Order: sequence, then C-alpha cells, then structure tokens
Amino acid sequence: MDKHIKKPNENSNELDLQMERGSLFTHTSLTRLSARINESDSFLYAMVDLMVKKGLLTTEEITEFVQEVRNESIEKMETAHPGLALRDDRGGEAEYTPVNCEERWSVCKAICCKLDFALNAEEVENGHVKWDMGRPYFIRHNKQGFCTHLNQENKCCGVYEDRPKVCKKYSCAKDERIWKDFEKMELNHEWINTHLKESKLKFVESPMFTDQKIIYKKTDRDYDE
Ligand code: SF4
Ligand code: SF4
Repeated sequence: MDKHIKKPNENSNELDLQMERGSLFTHTSLTRLSARINESDSFLYAMVDLMVKKGLLTTEEITEFVQEVRNESIEKMETAHPGLALRDDRGGEAEYTPVNCEERWSVCKAICCKLDFALNAEEVENGHVKWDMGRPYFIRHNKQGFCTHLNQENKCCGVYEDRPKVCKKYSCAKDERIWKDFEKMELNHEWINTHLKESKLKFVESPMFTDQKIIYKKTDRDYDE
C-alpha cells in the first residue's frame, strides 16, 4: 500500500479531532458573544428604566441598577447562552464506598457507564475524554447508550487513567437506581429500563455560564442519597 495513503480509521480519527476542535472554537466564540449581548442588554434596560422612573442619571445609580437587572435576568434564566454544559466540582464530596466491580460485571454489565454527566473544563481541555458534539460538553454515548469509552468485551474503561472525576468517585453501593438489593445483586430493572434503555437526544435548557462563572450542576454520577 502507498505509504501516503492513510488507512480509513486514521482518516476518521483525524476528522473526529477536527470536528471536535471546530466545535470547541464555535462554542467558545458563542460564549464570548453571548456574554457581550447579556452585558449590553443589562445596560440598556437599566438606562431606560432609570430615565423613565427618575429623569436623572448618576454613575452610582446606573451601576446599581445594571447589577439589579443583571441578577434578575440570571434568576429568571433570561440571559442569552449558547447551550453549553460544564460540570463544576465545587460541590461537597460524597462518601466513597468501594465496590468489587469484577464480581458484579456479569450482572450489572457496567450499567453505570450509561449514566449521564457533563465534563468539567479541565477534562474538555485535556482532550482525553470524548464529549457529545450534539450536547457539548456531556459525555459521549454510543447508540446503545453506553459511554463511548467502555470496552464492551471486557467492561473496562478505555480512558481509565484519564477518566472523569465523577467516574473516579462514583460508587454504585448506595445507588438505589442501579440496585434494588446491593448485597443480593438484584438490579433495579424498572429504573434502568425507564431511564437508561437507549441514548436519546436531549437538549440543554439551563444556562451554565453566567457572568463568566460556571454554575454547579449535579449529574447522574453525583448520586449521593
Ligand atoms: S460501579 Fe457498580 S454498576 Fe458500575 S461496573 Fe462497578 S459494579 Fe457495575
Ligand atoms: S469514562 Fe470510563 S468509567 Fe467513565 S463512564 Fe466512560 S467508560 Fe465508564
């Protein structure tokens, strides 16, 4: 074979990478633009409201009113956003209970790798873990609903060393969505069949970026009840 002709899988890997880079660029630009639009909106509405109410302008009044309107927009989720989701790990850490996965794989089939979660900013930037280009930056699932990094043959994680933090700290021991009876290894088929049957297209409706900060979002894998 001509050494300059790439094998099909090499081409698709490159295309995959380029699409991810392109999407990352688009989302970054949209985020910056949205932030500017939100800022302009807040200023404009504040100025108009003040002029109508008082007929007099001072810098302090404008600043105060802009902040008020900005907070109100955030509270009512009226801020413009490109629909991105990033995980913020600043929430409290749940207590970790070790689980012997190997002795359970024949029953659980690694069902926890169907749970949904968004990556954090560091995981996105590192590029080890694939995210869903249709729902940035949620973990990418295959058609069967499993994480794209799960090796179906041996149930091992293909990015084990670089797996997301939620995967590292997740334990199914107290997760009643997975186990009806953890000790007897009885799965909660009702919940699993209702929620984890297949990969469905879901839209991100809540804004995750406000004023350049990232809002904490619980994920399926943050289960700690
Ligand atoms: S964490 Fe639980 S559900 Fe996930 S592979 Fe291990 S035993 Fe199975
Ligand atoms: S990254 Fe690894 S541990 Fe995490 S959901 Fe995917 S396959 Fe499972």
